Amino acid sequence: MLDYKNRIMEIHVQLGISDNYASQHGLVLQWEETHLVDIGEDIFQRPQQLSEQASARWQVMKSQAKKDGVLLGVVSAFRSVDAQTKIIQKKLDQGQALTKILKINAAPGYSEHHTGCALDITTPGCAALSESFESTEAFDWLRENAREYSFLLSYPRKNSFGIAYEPWHWAYHEC
Ligand SMILES: [Zn+2]
Repeated sequence: MLDYKNRIMEIHVQLGISDNYASQHGLVLQWEETHLVDIGEDIFQRPQQLSEQASARWQVMKSQAKKDGVLLGVVSAFRSVDAQTKIIQKKLDQGQALTKILKINAAPGYSEHHTGCALDITTPGCAALSESFESTEAFDWLRENAREYSFLLSYPRKNSFGIAYEPWHWAYHEC
């Protein structure tokens, strides 16, 4: 655990993320899951993975949604600390301001995607990672039913973490 914390701190120093990032945003360190299972491809045909438990519940939830006439697709599931670091580094290289980036992307070590329990969900006809997801039947279905499968919306409108509203981002909460 200490090694992990140190690794994250080193990455933050490299990216120029301030020491008080976590306390400022009220975010807790997210463990990086190492035992992952394949959940098939996302909507861009990239293989995706989740933790074993989250995967099992996701499959059950997705098939129940389908029975109800709602198609749920994956945009992104597990993401490693290294992958998160690369995303942020790339945006910095493109000249984006760090404060702006951190409103959209959690700092490495603080993304729920590290745990293998978070999923970005979409549905046919909706652009991936778009706020318009909230007006889809899929979102209505999730709002009604996801809790039953222990999936919760992580970043509602005006959340306390200073993270933009993400109607597509759901996390399994038995991890
Ligand atoms: Zn997400």
